[in-house]
Amino acid sequence: MLVTAKEMLTKAKAGKYAVGQFNINNLEWTKAILQTAQELNSPVILGVSEGAGKYMTGYKTVVGMVNGMLEEMNITVPVALHLDHGSYEGCLKCVEAGFSSIMFDGSHYPIEENVAKTTELIKICEEHHMSLEAEVGAIGGEEDGVIGKGECADPDECKKIADLGVTMLAAGIGNIHGKYPENWEGLSFETLEAISEKTGDMPLVLHGGTGIPADQIKKAISLGVAKINVNTECQLVFAEATRKYIEEGKDLQGKGFDPRKLLLPGTEAIKAIVKEKMELFGSVGKA
Ligand SMILES: [Zn+2]
Repeated sequence: MLVTAKEMLTKAKAGKYAVGQFNINNLEWTKAILQTAQELNSPVILGVSEGAGKYMTGYKTVVGMVNGMLEEMNITVPVALHLDHGSYEGCLKCVEAGFSSIMFDGSHYPIEENVAKTTELIKICEEHHMSLEAEVGAIGGEEDGVIGKGECADPDECKKIADLGVTMLAAGIGNIHGKYPENWEGLSFETLEAISEKTGDMPLVLHGGTGIPADQIKKAISLGVAKINVNTECQLVFAEATRKYIEEGKDLQGKGFDPRKLLLPGTEAIKAIVKEKMELFGSVGKA
């Protein structure tokens, strides 16, 4: 059964480790992540972007698939199904579809409007026993044309949103979505420390986990980050392994064209990267 992200993140924050959010795109992604979490006895958060939700034909399909897998695969570790960067409307749809957690990305609104919409969603989440992630200070990415340095959130605005009663808080600390540019200046630990001080026990979320050096990840966890989002890295290793399979002509050998064979190397590659991340984040054995 799906659980909210609250308990797993409260434990992670207190225990100085982080739970990985791995975004899913299809059955192979979901299966690979759930298998790895179970094998490593780690809590896990399945992230679904609005685009990925649409790709999978809608949130109800996602909920049906994930709930089916939890049962058929005998998954016993805590699993949360979480909307990633949701719009207000997207959040409502996921509440209705049966997600256990949502992120409302109100970072592009003026702070007062972000506060108002977040407040409404907190109420709805409480009624439905769901966890809610809010965002302060937009997190840049290639799609936004941000290069060199990601934005840093205002610690006072972070406190304002945290005090509303959200479950976890994403704040820009120089992190970026997608691949990091060559001239990236690294995470701003001064910003993270200031946010941590103002928000106390609030589990903090680090977006754009792909390509942040391991030592910076560890330092971020020591300063209060309890949830780390990984998306691009799974896509990169999946594509790489699939390309290798095709380039080696394996799809032309025997029944190598069988989609269950064709998609296997990519699926195995996702499992390997999820394992690597869970070990780095320290969530192994914490289920
Ligand atoms: Zn993000």
